[in-house]
Amino acid sequence: MQLPSWMSDLGRGVLDVIYPPRCLGCGARAHRPDLPLCAGCLQSMERAPDMGVAARLDRLPVAPTALDDARALWIFDKGGALQAVQHALKYGDRPAYGAALGRIMGRADWESLPRLSGVVPIPLHRTRLLERGYNQAAALGTGMAEALAVPLRDDLLHRPRPTLSQTDLSRTERWSNVSRAFRAEPEAAGGTWLLVDDIMTTGSTAVAAAQTLREAGAASVTLAVLALART
Ligand SMILES: [Zn+2]
Repeated sequence: MQLPSWMSDLGRGVLDVIYPPRCLGCGARAHRPDLPLCAGCLQSMERAPDMGVAARLDRLPVAPTALDDARALWIFDKGGALQAVQHALKYGDRPAYGAALGRIMGRADWESLPRLSGVVPIPLHRTRLLERGYNQAAALGTGMAEALAVPLRDDLLHRPRPTLSQTDLSRTERWSNVSRAFRAEPEAAGGTWLLVDDIMTTGSTAVAAAQTLREAGAASVTLAVLALART
């Protein structure tokens, strides 16, 4: 059952008093309740190498020409602190964590970003959105848009077609699963967009989303992801 948001916020407030939030990485009392990780864990996160995303995209069955540039902040390891964070983001009803991590992404020392028209989170299909209650990429996008002082445009890209979970699919299957999943609004035309997602594995979802924006006339699309999955 989906509770009204004021009710779940109230419940969370009560729970936070009884069980103070702990760092999802090391279990220490979190320094800031809006962040899933303590300062120590945040500092010890492994940064993704500069060319890490580009190298991954080169292995896709299509040329990733729709993306002008692509960056990842951290490396995602199975069983690592970020997996606990991802789980809390996806299933734990913690959009505030997403926004706080998005602000960290927005303030990261990326090499120069183009002048942006806005931040476009990769959308979820309606069914999955209803299951989760919110889109974790949109939560990250909210924080990024705030840190970069550009509009959040979560109204530009839609995902009308449900897709299978990508988890057990091969690289080629992942591409055919998502290649035509998105639809863009005509307003995407002419814009310079920053596409945002949480974890990138093969990059097929991001490239499909970027391709849809470019087909709608976007001038440029740059991708920023919270983390690149280690393979
Ligand atoms: Zn910690």
